This record gives sequence, structure tokens and C-alpha cells, in this order.
Amino acid sequence: MNAPFVAEPLQSYSGQVVVGHVRTAGSVEELRAHLDEARSRGVTASVRSGQMAFDTHALSTGMVIQLVGFDAIGEVCPSGTITVGAHATWGAILEATRRAGYVPYAMASTERATAGGTLSADCLSRFSPTCGKEGNHVARLRVLTARGEVLECSRDQNAALFRGVISGFGCVGIVLEVTYELLHVGFSDVVVATTFTEFSGLGGLAQALVTKVEGAATATGAAGSPSGDLRLRRKVAASEMQAISAVAYLQGAARGFVMHSTYVDGASHPLKPSPLHQPRSIVEQALQALAFFEPARVLGYRYLLDVYLPEHADAVDPLADFTFFQGGNDAVIRHGRALGFAMGIRQQTWIVPMTPGNAVETSARLAQFLADAQAVLERHDLLPPLIDVLFLPDDSGEGFALSSNRAGPGFAVTLTFEAPFRTDFPDEEQACVAISQLCASVGGRVHLVKNVFADAPAIATMYAGGIAELRALRAKHDPTGTLSSAFLERVAPALFDR
Ligand SMILES: Cc1cc2nc3c(=O)[nH]c(=O)nc-3n(C[C@H](O)[C@H](O)[C@H](O)COP(=O)(O)OP(=O)(O)OC[C@H]3O[C@@H](n4cnc5c(N)ncnc54)[C@H](O)[C@@H]3O)c2cc1C
Repeated sequence: MNAPFVAEPLQSYSGQVVVGHVRTAGSVEELRAHLDEARSRGVTASVRSGQMAFDTHALSTGMVIQLVGFDAIGEVCPSGTITVGAHATWGAILEATRRAGYVPYAMASTERATAGGTLSADCLSRFSPTCGKEGNHVARLRVLTARGEVLECSRDQNAALFRGVISGFGCVGIVLEVTYELLHVGFSDVVVATTFTEFSGLGGLAQALVTKVEGAATATGAAGSPSGDLRLRRKVAASEMQAISAVAYLQGAARGFVMHSTYVDGASHPLKPSPLHQPRSIVEQALQALAFFEPARVLGYRYLLDVYLPEHADAVDPLADFTFFQGGNDAVIRHGRALGFAMGIRQQTWIVPMTPGNAVETSARLAQFLADAQAVLERHDLLPPLIDVLFLPDDSGEGFALSSNRAGPGFAVTLTFEAPFRTDFPDEEQACVAISQLCASVGGRVHLVKNVFADAPAIATMYAGGIAELRALRAKHDPTGTLSSAFLERVAPALFDR
């Protein structure tokens, strides 16, 4: 007999609430039973794993199936792959690969996210400028469809389902197990060396970042065409892996720095930790807590830019601290919520297209988009704590359904808003809708992995091809339309048209 079906308020990472009914599943049999129950009750079901999704991606007003097992982590194979359960956390996966002299190519910046959750979102990493997103490094996966079938998927087997599951946000099947291709680094004491190059003004940001990206493309043999064959670039050598991103603070004239990082051997590179990459330090967490308050944040940025960075233009960080640098902010949010504070957050990302081989046009478009977005924020009297920008290469060769860089290469621009005492962000959400319109007007796409505030018709246009592919997969593998989520129903209702 089923346990009572009791509704309870469930929160997304950013603080939005959906009232749903939770069932936990630690085996395929339990997953099948819950899917059957959802069908018999006539409700939809979403699958939830690490609970790190900013928006309501993993929540449903019907049933929320929380994974509790599925966290086995295999040995690294001589072929340079690792097989993990869908609920294995990235913190545990990185530790297992590092010991063997490997690192996963693309990891999100939180150790608490899980393989199934990040694969379903096709997450990006700070190394994405040279190796693409997570999906590009998935060799195979095993999925349970809503019909109860367990299917093997890869680029050669059930390929359409493979392309739909990666970036499908759980709407075409439940991932059980994943095999990732790994980057062979060759030493287990992997550390990350970073140089910081300052810029001022949004034009300065665009120029500095585009120049670095073009330089990286030249170094990896893709000169003039960072949009080149991504399948080739999936196999970037460890010495070619580069993390490149820009961070700007919009206080008055924008100022910030471009970070350029590489994997190096800790035996010959003593640690020189950057204050930005110490998520486990209590001091860092205290500073992150202070950064929730604007005056402290402004002072902190000034200190960083005027005093600290001029003296410390390079750093060498432990691998996990660099990779999961958002852990400090995450700890503050969790502890704050445990103490009864709202700790609301909104984070949205837009992809601004690049013109391959034309750095001048690309940098002008990016600078204009950033300036227009800043004008929108000023109209709403908003000042986000920070803005970060990262290059994403062309993903079109893969055909992952809702991948944001499937339409071509571009720059992922992310805005973050945080507030300790509220979870509602009406002004910020309105500003994000307006910025989504700006993004559409330059031929860009709203990235679907973080919060999404945009008109549903705009999303339907941006992702028309992927939505059609997912609808076809759902018709085949989930004919009763059981798998869904509050997020997809709001953002991409076209997926569920009958
Ligand atoms: C502090 C922090 C840092 C982050 N850093 C990054 C980053 O660097 N890059 C980035 O791209 N994103 C980042 N994110 C976003 C986060 O990585 C994604 O939202 C990711 O999808 C969360 O995975 P999860 O395991 O927590 O899954 P959940 O939040 O539980 O679910 C996320 C999505 O995956 C689906 N899903 C979960 N498990 C399965 C499964 N087994 N089968 C099918 N579908 C499933 C859910 O239905 C939902 O659509 C960050 C988030 C936070 C809070």
C-alpha cells in the first residue's frame, strides 16, 4: 500500500516555493512504482537529485521523486572513463578521479550537485571555453523511461534519446548511471594556477575576454574559429585546458578582472590560494555573509581591486577549492536558512552570440549587450552583486536538445542578485525579462540552467528545434506525459502541447 500522499511546500535553491508530494526512490523498482502511482493519481512527476537547481527545475505540483541511492562510483578505467550513479555528487566524483591522475572535463562549481542533475541540465564549467559543457564528455548513460524500460544510450545507441536526456531536465527519462570521459592529467597532486588581468569599463571587459578566448583558440590549434569542430576539442590535452572568465562589479564605472587558469602539478607549484577560491575557509564564509549587504560588498570589491589584486596578480589553488568555489556562498545560504533567514537569490544567464573569426564585431556586440543590460538594471534601480562572463564554444555538432550553445558559440553572461531577508524578487525578475528580450534581439538565447525569467514565446522561438525533438521523444517514451516539472511547464509550455 502507498504511503499517504501529503502535500508540502518545497523550495528551489533560489527560494521559490512549489507545493508538491515527495516520494523517495533508491532502486529502479521504487522508481517504477512511483511513476505508476503518479499515473494512477493523474499527476505529473519530476525527479530531484542534489537539489541545487536555482529554479523549479526539479519540483512539481504533482509528485517529486527524490533519489536517495544511485550514488556508486566505479574505478577509473584504463581507457580514461569513470562510471557513476546518477545521485553521486561531484565532490565525490572529483576525489575519485583525482587520485587516479584524472579530472572530469566539465564540473559545475558546487560539490553538492550530482551527475544526473548536472547531465540533465548539461552544465557548464569554468573550463568550458576549451572543452565545452558536461554533455560533450558523456560516453554513455542508462536511463529509465516513464514506460518503465531501462535503455542504454550513447552517440551510437538510442542516439536521439541520448541527445534528449542530456539537457532535457528530466522530461524524457530518469538517468540511472553515467559514464564520463576524463581528462588525463598524469599527476594526482593537481592544483590550479590562475592569473588575474584587470579591466575597466564594459568595453574593456569585452575586449579583454574576447582577446583571451581568441588566444586560447590559437593555442589549441583552432585559430580564428573557436566555433570549430567541438568533437575534436572534446579531447583537449591537459596542457591545453584553460578556464577563462571575466568578473565585473557594476559599482559606478564597471571594473573587474579576467581570470585565466590552468591545471598544474602541485609538486612544482606551491599553493598561493586566492581569496576567491577558499570555499571551506570560515573567514571566506564570513566575508560571503557580509557580501549579502551592499555597503560591505562595495568595500570588499574596492579592497580586492585597489589593494589585493595589484599585489597578487596570480594564485595557485587546491583543485577542489578552485572547482567548487561557490561552496562558501552555498554554506552561507544554508546556514542562514537554518537560522531562519530568507537568503533569497536569483541568478540568470544569457548567451550572447559570437561572430567566429571577427573579434571586433564580437567584442562590440558583447559590450553593447552588457551596457544595455546595465541600463535596464539602472532603470529598475538594481545593482547586482556581480556579473560574470564565460565563453562557450559551438555545440551544434552534438545536437543536445536544449543546449544553449547549440545555435553557435557565444558568451554566457550571468547576473546574480542576493538578499538576506526576502525570497521575492519582483523587480529583478522584471529586469531579467527585459534583458531576455535584449538577448533575443541580438540573436542570443536564454540559458535554461539557472533561474529563467523570459516570455514563454521567446523561449519557444529560441529553442524551437529542441522542443520539437523532446516532444517527439516524450510521445514515444512517455505517452501519458508523466514526467514534467514546474519549471518546464512555466518556461517551455510548448513541450506539453497535445
Ligand atoms: C552554488 C551553486 C553553484 C552552481 N554552479 C554551476 C555551474 O558552475 N555551472 C552550471 O552549469 N550550473 C551550476 N549550478 C546549477 C546546478 O549545477 C544545476 O542546477 C544542476 O542541474 C543541479 O543538479 P542537482 O544534482 O542538484 O539536481 P536537482 O537540482 O535535483 O535537479 C536539477 C535538474 O535535473 C533533473 N534531474 C535530476 N536528477 C535526474 C536524473 N537522475 N535523471 C533525470 N533528470 C534528473 C531534475 O529534474 C532537474 O530538472 C550551480 C548551482 C548552485 C546552487
